[in-house]
Amino acid sequence: MNFEEKKKRLVESLKNRDILSKPKVIQAMLTVPRHKFVPKDAESSAYMDTPLLIGAGQTISAPHMNAMMCEYLELKEGDKVLEIGTGSGYHAALCAELVAPKDSKNPGHVYTIERHLKLVKNAKKSLKESDYENIVTVIHGDGTLGYPEQAPFDKILVTAASPKKIPPPLQEQLKDGGILCIPAGSHSFGQNLYIIKKHGKDFDRTRITGVRFVPLIGKYGFET
Ligand code: SAM
Repeated sequence: MNFEEKKKRLVESLKNRDILSKPKVIQAMLTVPRHKFVPKDAESSAYMDTPLLIGAGQTISAPHMNAMMCEYLELKEGDKVLEIGTGSGYHAALCAELVAPKDSKNPGHVYTIERHLKLVKNAKKSLKESDYENIVTVIHGDGTLGYPEQAPFDKILVTAASPKKIPPPLQEQLKDGGILCIPAGSHSFGQNLYIIKKHGKDFDRTRITGVRFVPLIGKYGFET
């Protein structure tokens, strides 16, 4: 089976499991070539619903998690998005498809921050090869500080597990009416995925499900 067929089969199974339902998210998952964002020796597993190692002891999340987070973020054309934890760059590419679809008259932009320089370099390469380099800006740094240079953001996506106290800069840098999607809890086990909606000075937090992510390391994250 070739990559296209494997990708279609993965998307069908996510639809059948009621993880994917929004047509635009389905289209984005059918468009972004996940095999171009994983190491060569993992290419054959790119369309399995599982996390994969990408170097520096980090992982690309399982596709069902990417799909779920994209659906809950309600990403739309024109959105300015901040992602913390670029990893492979795959999730940033999915966001790019949703906020800046081809021939968009009102393209949005994705800013994504990664703390490992090696991953920053690999993600930039994959994003360039897949034609997302003009829509996605990859930044090397501590994402717990957010990205004040481009704040406020319509949507913020965190793909590493935060301590229970959500990093204050991320809440501050969210637009009024904006949505933050973040796993939070303990360093390794006992984490939950939350959707946090900002209404003026209030934050409305909803628990989605139990999850397991690598830790968010930084000033407002875990120490190591
Ligand atoms: N979104 C990624 C993808 O599509 O491949 C997967 C991300 S991986 C599960 C989590 C990433 O968060 C790791 O690459 C890790 O190095 C990064 N990370 C952890 N703490 C960070 C921080 N404070 N700032 C930026 N990146 C961080």
